[in-house]
This record gives sequence, C-alpha cells and structure tokens, in this order.
Amino acid sequence: MKKNYTKSSENTEVLNVFSWDSVQMEMKLKLGNDIYESWIKKIQFISEYNDYILISVSTRFIRDWITSRYLDQILKIAKSFKKNLNRIEFIVKDTNTKSLRSEEENNSNNSNVSFIEDSFLQYNRMDPNKKFENFIIGNSNKIAFESSKKVSEELAHYNPLYVYSGVGMGKTHLLNSIGLSLKSKFKVMFISAERFMYQFVRSIKLNEMVKFKDCFRNTDVFIIDDIQFMNGKEAMQEEFFHTFNALIDKGSQIIISADRPPNKLSRIQERIRSRFAGGLVIDIQKADYDLRLKIIKSKCDEHEMLYPDELKIPDSIKKFVSLEIKTSIRELTGALNRINSFIKVYNKIPNLSEVKIILKDLLNVSENIVTIDQIQSEVCKFFKISKNEMLSARRSRYLVRPRQVAIFLSKLLTSKSLPEIGREFSNRDHTTVIHSVKMIEKLRSEDSELNSNIDTLKNKILYNKENEI
Ligand code: ADP
Ligand code: MG
Repeated sequence: MKKNYTKSSENTEVLNVFSWDSVQMEMKLKLGNDIYESWIKKIQFISEYNDYILISVSTRFIRDWITSRYLDQILKIAKSFKKNLNRIEFIVKDTNTKSLRSEEENNSNNSNVSFIEDSFLQYNRMDPNKKFENFIIGNSNKIAFESSKKVSEELAHYNPLYVYSGVGMGKTHLLNSIGLSLKSKFKVMFISAERFMYQFVRSIKLNEMVKFKDCFRNTDVFIIDDIQFMNGKEAMQEEFFHTFNALIDKGSQIIISADRPPNKLSRIQERIRSRFAGGLVIDIQKADYDLRLKIIKSKCDEHEMLYPDELKIPDSIKKFVSLEIKTSIRELTGALNRINSFIKVYNKIPNLSEVKIILKDLLNVSENIVTIDQIQSEVCKFFKISKNEMLSARRSRYLVRPRQVAIFLSKLLTSKSLPEIGREFSNRDHTTVIHSVKMIEKLRSEDSELNSNIDTLKNKILYNKENEI
C-alpha cells in the first residue's frame, strides 16, 4: 500500500503519528475478515490534514458502499488515533482501476462469462482446515455439532438449520464443515450475507439479475453465514425471500448462521424471520473450562505434528490459558498462536510473567496503575544508583542513561503527558523528555543488552509477581 503521510508538523505529536495501517487493522478486528478483505483493504490512504484525512478507492460503487455502511466506524476508529479529526474525504482514483474497469466491462459485454460465477468461485472457497474431524465437542456445542452432522447426512431433515452464537464460537467452522462434507455430491453455495448483498447490488447495476437468480437458485445446499449483516434494501430482502422459498420448495438444504436468534434480527423483515424460525434453531454457548482445555490440547497436538522440532508448550501454560481466556474460542486459539510465535522467535518457553505480557490485552487482570515514582525506584534499583542521583542535574554517563531509561518507561507505561513527565524529573523541560525517549528508542535498536534490560525492567514494573504459579 502506498504510504504518503503528509506531515502536519506543528500538530503532530512526536510519539503519536497517525497510522492508517493501524486504523485498517482495527477495522479488521472490528468488522471481521470478510468485510475487511472485500472493502477496507481496497482503501488507499492519500494524506493527512489538520482535521481530516483523504482516502481513495478505485470506483464510485466501492466509495458509495463504504460510505453508506462503514464510514462512521472508520471515522470513529481514526479519531481514536487522531483526536481532532472530524471528517473523512473520499476521492475516486482511476490510476489502478484500468484492469478492474475493463474486467467489469468485459463481463457485462460477454454473456459467456458470468461475473457471478467468477466471484462464486472466488468466494465459495471453503477452508479445508475447518472440518467436522477437528471440531472439538463439549457441553456448549454438542447439539450444534450433532445437528450439523445430521444435516450433512440427510438433506432437508431440518430445514433451515439456523445456528447462532456470539463471535468466535465456531459457527463458521461448523458451516464450513457441512459444506466440505457435501460438496463432492451436491452443488454447494457457501457465502456470507455481506457478499450476497454485494452480488445483489452489483447484479442490478450490471443488469445481471437473471444470472444472479439462477446462480443462487440452482444450488442443492445454500449456506449463508452471518445473516445479521443483511439489512436495508427492501428489494434485496424481497429477492432473498423468494430465493429462500424457491430453495425450500425444491428440497434444497439451507443453513444459516447469525450472532442472535431469528426474532432479534431487527433489520430483517418479519416474514423472513419467521421462515428462519420454522426449521431448527440452535445456539452455541460459551465454552466451559473443560472444552477450552480440550481445544487447546488438540490445537497443540496439531502444531506439534506439524513442527516436531519446536519446543512444546507445557501443561501449566495450557491450563493457565484455558482458565483465563474465556470470551471465545477465537481468542483462545489466538492466544495460542501468540505463544507459539514467542517460542519461535526466542527459542524458549515463556515463563508465566512472559505469558501474561504476551496476552496482556486478552487477560482480565485489573490494569496495574503504574506511577512514575515506581518506575524511578525500579530503575534506580536496577542500575544501582540513588534516587537523588537520578533526579540531580549531574550529567555523568552512569547517571544519564538510567535517567533516560526511566523517562522512556514513564512515557511508555503511563498516560502522563510530556510536560507532566518532565515535572517529575526535577522540572526538566518537555524537550528533554522527547530527547530521552528518542535516544532510548535509537539505542534499543543498536544495543541488545540495553534492550533486554529495558524488557526486564518493564516486566518488573508491570508484573511484580514474577514467580507466581
Ligand atoms: P464464529 O463463526 O462463531 O465467529 P469461528 O467458526 O470462526 O467462529 O471460530 C473461531 C475459531 O475457533 C476458528 O479458528 C475455529 O476453527 C475455532 N473453533 C471454534 N470452535 C471450535 C471447536 N469446537 N473446535 C475446534 N476449533 C474451534
Ligand atoms: Mg463466523
């Protein structure tokens, strides 16, 4: 992606540079991978101004779609990185769009090539790793698993099958498993509601409604993920309703997932909701400790099979993670991935305080309030100098470095402003604070001993209880 950060030098805080990449990452976390891949990734960042940012996309269609659905959220997230932002401006830039344009034109001119089939192939890809065989069963998901199995053994036994739960609990995994197990025998369509809407709008635009209808109505198994994203557009809901009925009439199997039960889908027409509720509606509950541990163990076994030479995660860590990460299975496996990356990078098993740092944002530990006084004490102890020496005006080398480290950590670990930090170091000026922070940042990348000392100090300050468990 093109990065072209225009510096608004007077306003940009030295340590707080606006980063479009971070905004995009946040959007990915918030809206999920599907929406990210379909829309957000396509946005190019152009430049940053005092109170707005300029971004671009390649077509008016994409611009309108993003504006009507995601712009509020993009603004909100961007604001968290740049407080005085009050709007986002969009331009439609042609430069990279030649191929895309001509592709669209070709498709609409050449009736042998259906864009729906193209994107059908593109978006109907099932994940070969999400199958029944590696779906671990516990009290909270047993019924959902069994119903999904039943559907894939006997079409239209439950029709539709409607599975709901909070995020990251295994809905997509189950739907994908059904698709995988049926795709050799039947015509399977596996699509997110988001994509379905996109195809619909695009078909209207390109006068391809007949193809759209055929494509969806010809399937034996129609799997639609995250139906809660379907909203607005009467005409589209109308079309969906008819597709749905046509499929049920011809005995095709429909499987739907959502983040809530049918009667809570407030943006979807009542008659569609009641059709959803007419089959089997089941939910996946939060996983209990036993299931979490079983999942962790199974994922570790898989990993060990793939990488037999890597160090193995000990039981104590598996138990700790299963005990602490309760929100969702996605977070659970995410936690495991982070630990595996740590092992790969450092070639050692993290101890418990390291695990806590790696998973800090996922753990429900009460936020340690770190004070500058505490930082100064730890740093003095570490470098064996007195606090008076640290706060004095003396500039001997053995004092300057620890002082800079303490200032650096104060900026990193507290929310104090630069002048506030300066005041706590015998009224030093905020430019001294900036200088210290920059100096340590620079030295850290050159001096591995200093770098590791800083990490040790950081751990000490954040987690005093180093030897717990
Ligand atoms: P949802 O669609 O409900 O948001 P996903 O199906 O995407 O959740 O699940 C999130 C992650 O957790 C996926 O990597 C999935 O493979 C994994 N997962 C969820 N449930 C299980 C389970 N019972 N056994 C093994 N892995 C699971
Ligand atoms: Mg999902």
